Amino acid sequence: MASNAKRARRRVAVIGAGVVGALIARELSRYGGEVFLFEREVDVGWGVTKANSAIVHAGFHEQPGTASGRLCVAGNALFPEVCRELGVPFQRIGAYVLALADGERAAVEDLRARGEELGVPGLALLDGDEVRRRLPHVNPDVVAALWAPTVGITEPWALALAAVENAVDNGVALHLGEEVTGVAVEGGRVRAVTTGWGTYGVGAVVNAAGLAADRIAALAGVPVPRITPRRGEYLLLVDVPPSLRPAVLFPVPTPHSKGILVVPTVDGGLLLGPTAADLAPEEGEATETTAEGLARALAGARRLVPALPVGNVVKAFAGLRPEPAGGDFWLGRTGVRGFYQAAGMRSPGLTAAPAIARGLAAEIACDLGLALRPSFSPLRRPPPRVAGLPPAEWDALIARDPRYGRIVCRCNRVTEGEIVEAIRRGARTVDGVKFRTRAGFGRCQGGTCTDRVLALLARETGRDPEEVSVQGPGSALVVGRVR
Ligand SMILES: Cc1cc2nc3c(=O)[nH]c(=O)nc-3n(C[C@H](O)[C@H](O)[C@H](O)COP(=O)(O)OP(=O)(O)OC[C@H]3O[C@@H](n4cnc5c(N)ncnc54)[C@H](O)[C@@H]3O)c2cc1C
Repeated sequence: MASNAKRARRRVAVIGAGVVGALIARELSRYGGEVFLFEREVDVGWGVTKANSAIVHAGFHEQPGTASGRLCVAGNALFPEVCRELGVPFQRIGAYVLALADGERAAVEDLRARGEELGVPGLALLDGDEVRRRLPHVNPDVVAALWAPTVGITEPWALALAAVENAVDNGVALHLGEEVTGVAVEGGRVRAVTTGWGTYGVGAVVNAAGLAADRIAALAGVPVPRITPRRGEYLLLVDVPPSLRPAVLFPVPTPHSKGILVVPTVDGGLLLGPTAADLAPEEGEATETTAEGLARALAGARRLVPALPVGNVVKAFAGLRPEPAGGDFWLGRTGVRGFYQAAGMRSPGLTAAPAIARGLAAEIACDLGLALRPSFSPLRRPPPRVAGLPPAEWDALIARDPRYGRIVCRCNRVTEGEIVEAIRRGARTVDGVKFRTRAGFGRCQGGTCTDRVLALLARETGRDPEEVSVQGPGSALVVGRVR
């Protein structure tokens, strides 16, 4: 009994497997003790992490003296290392903030001053002629710009998935489809978490529950204001010529957001958006798009780049920013011993995540007396990706396993071998395959490959096709056989 209690005191429950919780679990696995990662969805990274601008920000948008400013700059510096270790795409392409009228010059100068105070490297102010020379495709009315070379782009869900894979390899217990419904506190300290499946004695709890972080804090009796979902709508374009996507383009920011952007994606597309609209409590977590929001996203993007290839739009979607009252992240220790916040993860939460994870894991390890584990490995073996592979390497892959020669998703050239590997690594749904392999992410948006992905999922997991879903319970694609 005594040894059970001792063991529980060295156990940490991380609530939420978005990019923040995933990286925290991975960092905690550097230390001794046990780590449980609870996620209510059937897969990793399906919350805020799934739908955002995917920019690794430089930090100049943040206010000096804030946690978001400090951790954005620190997170940006960690990104190349973390993405290299985990085999996740990261491209440091830089960004321009465009001033499109004389009245906007001061805002760009202010961003540079803020950035320099925060220690953002390489910032430079450019005049209109220099911007037109570098970026012939942007609005010719541009009068000045801030150039920020450290801005990058990544794939947030790929980072969350890779971090969880690496965390599990290092001993973290992943509990998918398991919602935390209670946090037991006795004598002012955390003792256990309860889920639909059972109760787990723990010495520490990390609240990385995204939009639900205010409700998780309430379960532990930690008073926090409501998190406001702030919806951002986007248009996604594919197959965009490189001349139209050399760098991220920002307008000058609004009091509410960074404005509507033109963002290259790591796989050759462009994102236009996001808009910014706060949801009322009765709207819940509504992620549907609206005609008005999408028109605003397109108009805002056209203000930066007048000649956008709108015929290449393949998808509209929306994400919800978890906006904390006060505007800054909620981080670290709270009034309840053992209950830690990693919450209020508005933008730049993705960028800051590696730095948040490193700092918070060290804080928890210190509080629980956990030592570093010499056997920790930061490296994950990335799965083979056929698209972009030189022909000789593709041939070698096919020689090893002929399934890498059978194309399933024609738009993104994804093979049966890659889908089988994704299933081996944990994909159980059509979206699970899509987010791991990009099958269904291309021009036809799954129109020609979804049935084959479904059949492969059924074959590889020994289920009937009727039992395979898009996103878990309630999203089956087929309801029965007609013959
Ligand atoms: C429109 C938009 C644009 C953005 N652009 C950028 C950007 O370009 N750069 C940047 O740095 N940041 C950006 N962000 C912010 C960034 O996306 C977030 O900070 C980050 O994804 C937050 O990750 P998270 O892990 O905290 O949350 P989430 O990804 O939401 O993860 C929380 C998880 O907790 C789970 N959960 C909730 N309740 C429970 C429970 N009771 N039990 C178990 N699990 C639970 C949820 O299912 C979810 O998977 C943007 C956000 C939005 C919405």
